[in-house]
Amino acid sequence: MIRIIQQRKKCIGCNACVEAFSSRWSMSRKDGKSVLIGGHKKKEIVSIIVGDDEYKENVKAATNCPVNIIKIIKL
Ligand code: SF4
Repeated sequence: MIRIIQQRKKCIGCNACVEAFSSRWSMSRKDGKSVLIGGHKKKEIVSIIVGDDEYKENVKAATNCPVNIIKIIKL
């Protein structure tokens, strides 16, 4: 299992995470920031626990994020 964490407030809406893995990331039409699909919001942090099968794609999203607000933690 892995935990995906996004500091959503700091998102600049560049779309890089969506390009990396559109099954888990999408863009919000409301505020132009990316959405961690299925994620739970607690204060300014959005997170979700998913299977290891998504590890590679989400690490790519994290690596490609220019403001470095996506973290992937192996559980
Ligand atoms: S890559 Fe980072 S800054 Fe760009 S849309 Fe995704 S979370 Fe936001």
